[in-house]
Amino acid sequence: MERRAAGSMFLLLVRRDWQAAIARMTFESHQGRDTKLGQLPILRALPTKGRRMVGPWCFLDRYGPLSFTEGKPMDVAPHPHIGLQTVTWLLQGEIVHNDSLGSKGLIRPGGVNVMTAGAGIAHSEETPRSNAGLLQGVQLWTALPDAQRNGTASFQQIDRVPQVELPGGVTQVFAGTLSGATSAAQYHSEIVGADAQIFSKSALNLPLNPAHEHAILLLSGDAELEGERIDARSLYYLDAGRSQIGMNSQEGARILLIGGVPFPEPILMWWNFVARTQEEIAEARRAWEQQERFGEVSEYQGPRLTAPPLVRFAHPNPAS
Ligand code: MN
Repeated sequence: MERRAAGSMFLLLVRRDWQAAIARMTFESHQGRDTKLGQLPILRALPTKGRRMVGPWCFLDRYGPLSFTEGKPMDVAPHPHIGLQTVTWLLQGEIVHNDSLGSKGLIRPGGVNVMTAGAGIAHSEETPRSNAGLLQGVQLWTALPDAQRNGTASFQQIDRVPQVELPGGVTQVFAGTLSGATSAAQYHSEIVGADAQIFSKSALNLPLNPAHEHAILLLSGDAELEGERIDARSLYYLDAGRSQIGMNSQEGARILLIGGVPFPEPILMWWNFVARTQEEIAEARRAWEQQERFGEVSEYQGPRLTAPPLVRFAHPNPAS
């Protein structure tokens, strides 16, 4: 009797484990980490301990919503980048970008700024004097593939990205192609990036490229991902091989979707640099500190950022 009871219990446990395994295969959640960008509180959703890249996306900071009456909550003095693209997407407010090429860009909600660092660029990002008193957005980076990472720096501003109306919501596409809409922003990997609004009491299904892995970040409101409630402090990762994703909302929501073909090269990330070797990072740091290679951001009023000491070194970032 006892042995039979134990046997049934064992089968029950096995079955539960199996069901849990199926649930885990559906998606992984990775909790973001609170930190600061100057005075601005941010949630760093990528990289995390458990997930360092999603396709070529290697960095995701979430900030706001916040309101202010004076000062500039966003004030990032001139700093250098190598080996990556910065992608700025706003939900509320304004940011002014200035860089060492002489580009100046005022970004507003609905538009995207893409800065390609290549072998080196410096830029500043700040709240303009004339502003709405609101700030909310995401700052993303893509890693450049080896063939492009030592190329020419450039800056692209798109005032209005394509928008697709779907049953249950509206999607704005700032990277790659989704639901037949293609962003004019230039990327160097197979990629997707979108901000999807889900209407209240609605379900939204987004078609996915099965060659891409993807991740979802809840930006506002309430949402269920494949029937499971998600929170705004975690990045939800979905393996490649899916042709669609289903979400729904009671009160309405906005979600960020990023994805791409799993990045085929291991990268090293340290401070504002994406590289392949520690020597490249040390050399980029030295050049910035010696005021070589990156040029000047002459439009910014104030001192530039100083590189941190090279003690806490980059983690190897195996291709995932
Ligand atoms: Mn930057």
